[in-house]
Amino acid sequence: MKVSDRVQEVPPSGIRRFFELAEEMDDVISLGVGEPDFSAPWAAREAAIDSLERGRTSYTANRGRRDLRESIADHVAERYDLTYDPDDEIIVTTGVSEGVDVALRALVDPGDVVAVPQPSYVSYEPGIRFAGGEPLPVPTSDDEFKLTADALERAGAADADALLYCYPNNPTGAIMTEDDLRPVAAFAREHDLTVFSDEIYSELTYGHEHTSIATFEGMRERTVVFNGFSKAYAMTGLRLGYALAPADAVAGMNRIHQYAMLSAPTTAQYAAIEALENCDDEVAEMVSQYDRRRRFVLSRFEEMGIDCFEAEGAFYVFPEVPGGDDEAFAEELLQEHGVAAVPGSVFGEDGEGHLRVSYATGLDDLREAMARIETFVS
Ligand code: PLP
Repeated sequence: MKVSDRVQEVPPSGIRRFFELAEEMDDVISLGVGEPDFSAPWAAREAAIDSLERGRTSYTANRGRRDLRESIADHVAERYDLTYDPDDEIIVTTGVSEGVDVALRALVDPGDVVAVPQPSYVSYEPGIRFAGGEPLPVPTSDDEFKLTADALERAGAADADALLYCYPNNPTGAIMTEDDLRPVAAFAREHDLTVFSDEIYSELTYGHEHTSIATFEGMRERTVVFNGFSKAYAMTGLRLGYALAPADAVAGMNRIHQYAMLSAPTTAQYAAIEALENCDDEVAEMVSQYDRRRRFVLSRFEEMGIDCFEAEGAFYVFPEVPGGDDEAFAEELLQEHGVAAVPGSVFGEDGEGHLRVSYATGLDDLREAMARIETFVS
């Protein structure tokens, strides 16, 4: 059957090739996954089960259940001191993935330029292209993978229409502090950029509170914030996220969502209310375990003499690979030593020479995987 030119122009994701290779092998420890190894908090699962037992299996309002949107508004107000109207300024989506997709299709016109800090999450450039936009790669700082106003300027983002990023970052684990974000916000205001801020890893920071760019003066009106339940609440398979934006942007997103999706999964919406309202302790426990693993992995790379900047967010570290050829390194590491990790070049040219190592894996496996990496590099 004919596949559209629009689709054929976008290459398939490079991550899959490594998972397929890994699946064919025995005794592989995977440091390649981008999802929590925990289960969702029991109270959230129970709320989902309860909703099924009561037969709550119909569609919800297009924008999501009103009580969930109220919980989201309360959570965001408490966390960031930002007010979003549950009726007009919040939309519940099928994961952040759908949120980013509908936002790009609703707010980006054909030919619009969207600046994307590099290396970047694999879905962004395809998403921009599917929406008819042009991605503009923006290098980040070499040492810490932070986005700066200077880099935006040098890349020509002053003439762009929008900026799309995620911090805490996938694949590098970098974060942007309040001081880091302030000049980026000023740049966006000065050059009238719409900002798409994917904050899906907002709860997973170590030693720093997450700052949302929407909190800076004049930014709430030009920012779409995406967040969701996949990472902080270990609910990847329940497929639930949300977007916060000014009413006209949410109405535009809902125009696509109501035709393409109707509504996000109902069972997950019940779980999400419980997650937001009653699962802070479980989230704190998961964060503390990620932090222990993060420190372990960083210290092991240091012992091996492998350069790895101190990632302070998400559940990834991004070491430099000895020899610089990340594809060859990842392939040999997998085939000869049974450790799967993702070559940095999958995340764009600026990821070349690095490996994305996920520590969303138990400490025992991490110990064994790091020992195998040590054997390989020595
Ligand atoms: N955004 C980023 C930066 C991610 O890393 C991921 C998943 O890895 C997603 C979005 C997808 O999130 P969801 O499961 O909510 O669709």
